[in-house]
Amino acid sequence: MCHKCAISGFRAFSSFRCSPSSRSRAFLFAAAAQKRNISIPTTYKAAIVNNHGEQFKIIDREMPSPKKGEVLVKIHASGCCHTDVHAIDGDWPVKSKLPLTPGHEGAGEVVALGEGVSNVRVGDRVGMAWLYSACGECEHCVAGWETLCTKQQNCGYSVDGALQQYAIAAASHVVKIPDAVSYVQAAPVLCAGVTTYKGLKETEVKPGQFVSIIGAGGGLGHLAVQYARAMGMRVIAIDIGKKDYTDSLGAEISVDATDSSCVEKITKYTDGGSHGVLCLATSTPAFAMATNLARRRGTVVHVGLPPGTFPVPIFDVVLKRVSIRGSIVGTRTDLQEALDFAARGLVKVDVKTEPLANINSIFDRLRAGRINGRVAIIP
Ligand code: NAD
Ligand code: ZN
Ligand code: ZN
Repeated sequence: MCHKCAISGFRAFSSFRCSPSSRSRAFLFAAAAQKRNISIPTTYKAAIVNNHGEQFKIIDREMPSPKKGEVLVKIHASGCCHTDVHAIDGDWPVKSKLPLTPGHEGAGEVVALGEGVSNVRVGDRVGMAWLYSACGECEHCVAGWETLCTKQQNCGYSVDGALQQYAIAAASHVVKIPDAVSYVQAAPVLCAGVTTYKGLKETEVKPGQFVSIIGAGGGLGHLAVQYARAMGMRVIAIDIGKKDYTDSLGAEISVDATDSSCVEKITKYTDGGSHGVLCLATSTPAFAMATNLARRRGTVVHVGLPPGTFPVPIFDVVLKRVSIRGSIVGTRTDLQEALDFAARGLVKVDVKTEPLANINSIFDRLRAGRINGRVAIIP
């Protein structure tokens, strides 16, 4: 970058070759961006719940101005994750803010920048994920585990999220959406995709080994099956009443969780159990089953978050040297990698789109486990 560009404050244009013509293009872009800012409406539609356990209301909101370090994003597609159900139902030990606009699979376009923002530009295609921000300084952030930051803010939980037409995001934590991925395809990758991609890495399953995915037909699960295949794993899919669906996703075999011989069948098929188990289910019996599906030296990764506890058979865990761990979403790097799989066509989200007005019906279906893949709202 030339000195002139640097002092003009066009650090974000580093991909340009510095020349008088590129500088004038940069100025033109900034002028266009300014024009776009002016066309932002003064109010917009947002889904909110005022109290846990209540239905959504659609309200008109005043358009906010992004503050220092923030960006304003026009949401083009917003996935509905089961975590949003837990958020509005208030069923986790740590409760969400209220009133709450949930949503952490927000794919959209930056329309305005707050003071000091230089990593994104107006017009950039970006994603807003669960990790709204992290401190960047604690032992976890410094060690590359920003998802464990004790000072993190969460999109659609501790701050308002993406189930609205416009949303404020922390510029530091939006991720760029590759051009090859549409907004609708990108949205579910922002949580369901990255969470299962990271969760699969955490199983430590190697190419050619077995992974059992519990909850394989849901929003997370249907992507987990595809990421696992793309990572060379042999997939056993487990869900309830979704065998045909999980077969269609490319699972090697699908078994119904309500089948009383489910564990026995899988142990036989894998000749001793799965090398890794990824539990994405929304009910607690699945968590107890997960331990029983593990092979000797296997790793069970819990990702699903129904409230409650589950029993662990001490004898089996000790004698089979089974590891049990949790996994929570993924870092910005994991997210960029997960999006790259989508950009290269290795995973394809099964996503149906619906308008914001359908939000209560969508959440009823999600709560009942009746959605195959994901629903994204076009607000
Ligand atoms: P979803 O409703 O789309 O899918 C859940 C699936 O689990 C459904 O297909 C359902 O039929 C299946 N299921 C329920 N009980 C089962 C059982 N006993 N055995 C087998 N399958 C069962 O939900 P989702 O959006 O995929 O989210 C799944 C869970 O993961 C939620 O609890 C959510 O909060 C959690 N989650 C965790 C993280 C994380 O980072 N740890 C991230 C996102 C979501
Ligand atoms: Zn989610
Ligand atoms: Zn931190």
